[in-house]
Amino acid sequence: MDSKVVGILGGGQLGRMLVEAANRLNIKTVILEEGTSAPAKQINAVSEHINGSFTDPVKIRELAKKCDVLTVEIEHVDTDALKAVQKDTGVEIHPSPDTLAIIKDKYSQKQHLARGHIAVAESVSVDATECALLSVGDKFGYPYMLKSRTLAYDGRGNFVVKSKSDVKEALEALRDVPLYAERWAPFAKELAVMVVRSINGQVFAYSTVETVQKDNICHIVYAPARVSDSTRAKAQILAKDAVSTFTGAGIFGVEMFLLPDGQLLVNEIAPRPHNSGHYTIDACVTSQFEAHIRAITGLPMPNNFASLSTPNTHAIMLNVLGADKPNGELEICTRALSTPNASVYLYGKTTRPGRKMGHINIVSESMSDCERKLAYIRGEASDVAG
Ligand code: ATP
Ligand code: MG
Ligand code: MG
Repeated sequence: MDSKVVGILGGGQLGRMLVEAANRLNIKTVILEEGTSAPAKQINAVSEHINGSFTDPVKIRELAKKCDVLTVEIEHVDTDALKAVQKDTGVEIHPSPDTLAIIKDKYSQKQHLARGHIAVAESVSVDATECALLSVGDKFGYPYMLKSRTLAYDGRGNFVVKSKSDVKEALEALRDVPLYAERWAPFAKELAVMVVRSINGQVFAYSTVETVQKDNICHIVYAPARVSDSTRAKAQILAKDAVSTFTGAGIFGVEMFLLPDGQLLVNEIAPRPHNSGHYTIDACVTSQFEAHIRAITGLPMPNNFASLSTPNTHAIMLNVLGADKPNGELEICTRALSTPNASVYLYGKTTRPGRKMGHINIVSESMSDCERKLAYIRGEASDVAG
């Protein structure tokens, strides 16, 4: 299909699903990740994968030598090394290293969005001292959210400062990391929109979905979001506007807060495939993974590209997290396999409590049918409808 070789920094489940999508188009992928059994390497029988860290400039250069285009499945990469390798070798990098550098520091991301007139929760940089945290409390009131600027995921790096008496514990919990603070967003729901930009700057928004986090980890995604049509449309516009402030092609996940008065704020942006977009594999014309591969290799992207498969398509995505007992999570997978219109995706990871082991997509013509099927899969109902 295409003679370009795509190098992926990171070899987790997002890389694995990118590889699957690329394989179907005969696009070769090379993975940079520690070890030989990373999820993305398991399903990609290319001998020249690179064994090393996506934060290692030498390894990034080695990857660039083998590829025409570099991309990421994680933003916590060495962006200075990417800039240098792009300058020296001319390898294409999507999204751009500048975009990755802004986004991977969550405070610089917030400042960038605010400068671009994108609605975000107000935030300030903060020193790691009790005095500084108390003055944030004076400014924002309580609760407020203290966040690590870097290396955050699944809420690791966040601390809710509920009152003055939490300040000591907050500093203890987020020790040795650069900090910033955000005004509390008393959201009614959390929404997300996947946005993909083509190599020539055309932007497509997927449907607005509703995400439910449990212990700060994405748990369930409802597609489309169970909100009004106008809120869904507003969220798509905000997501497209937010992504348009960045450079480079590819897929972006835009997380948003829907406030009780209907206002939308961008929470954060992921410059890569995103957990809230896994439903697209079964519910959309093009999956987020194929969209990314097509965008970064300059393949065609027709105008219904990001649409739901049909106007009536409804979907629920359930994350499969490692159970307390090893492999206990396979129980819900087995029930999903016996459920009409449900698909199971496992990531080839060693079982560990709370670890993202896979996900399940349920697709139907109504959300209530998806919900009935979800109840069965989760063991809350004894039989499955339909
Ligand atoms: P991810 O795995 O999505 O990258 P993360 O570690 O970067 O997560 P955030 O997305 O910043 O963390 O926050 C995790 C969750 O914490 C959000 O989905 C939301 O539920 C809650 N949260 C974050 N910021 C705020 C805020 N300012 N006000 C209220 N709740 C918040
Ligand atoms: Mg994040
Ligand atoms: Mg988040």
